[in-house]
Amino acid sequence: MKTKVICPGSFDPVTLGHIDIITRASKMFDHVVVGVLNNLAKTPSFSTEERIELLREATRDLDNIEIVGFDGLLADYTRQRGITAIVKGLRAVSDFEYEFQQALINKKLNSDLETLFLTCSSDYMYLSSSIVKQVAALGGDISSFVPACVHDRILERLGTSK
Ligand code: ADP
Repeated sequence: MKTKVICPGSFDPVTLGHIDIITRASKMFDHVVVGVLNNLAKTPSFSTEERIELLREATRDLDNIEIVGFDGLLADYTRQRGITAIVKGLRAVSDFEYEFQQALINKKLNSDLETLFLTCSSDYMYLSSSIVKQVAALGGDISSFVPACVHDRILERLGTSK
């Protein structure tokens, strides 16, 4: 049986930390769905379509990746799509409690669904979309945080005019 997994997230915007996890998942599994969450609690900086477009551009060298917008319960979506596992990156102990709760609730809602955690790369431990937004808004250099091919588009939206 072919293995199909999902890497869910907000990706607002995509960072090199996300790409690291997606690339590693693409080497381990036959098909990787990158699920871009539509229903963010707060207004995102990039629309769902923009976040999908940036991810498509940043993953175009990987041929077993599919980028989709998604809404509602992950437990239902994975069942509909025949996805057997959620793959997530763990940055620090601080991520753990929330992720553990999510994994247990997803298991409760869909007992066939596993959650797998990849240890984040030490290069990207500090990196999150919100840090990228903060640095860009204050005029800092984000070139080592985001994929080069989408750097300018991200900066255009987030950066100061200086
Ligand atoms: P954030 O907004 O914090 O960057 P997302 O919700 O977009 O996070 O993250 C989607 C997935 O990517 C999550 O599984 C998260 O743990 C993982 N991830 C985010 N940043 C990193 C990173 N720097 N290293 C490894 N995994 C990461």
